[in-house]
Amino acid sequence: MTTKSKKTKSAGRFGARYGKTVKDKFVKVESKQRMKQTCPFCKKVGVKRISKGVWKCHRCDKKFASNTYFLD
Ligand SMILES: [Zn+2]
Repeated sequence: MTTKSKKTKSAGRFGARYGKTVKDKFVKVESKQRMKQTCPFCKKVGVKRISKGVWKCHRCDKKFASNTYFLD
């Protein structure tokens, strides 16, 4: 079964493992890190997380290092 349920969101891929509390915390962090963030250079929303601490803005095409999971 690979169906995602609404309850678990992106943590649905872990199935019945790891417990609800852990998955809830994980969803909180992951949903934020996947959102597009505000670029510190052009002040527009369009920065995506490429890797740990690596971010790229698709508007001004800048790649920069910053916080690991999300920008402020
Ligand atoms: Zn930018």
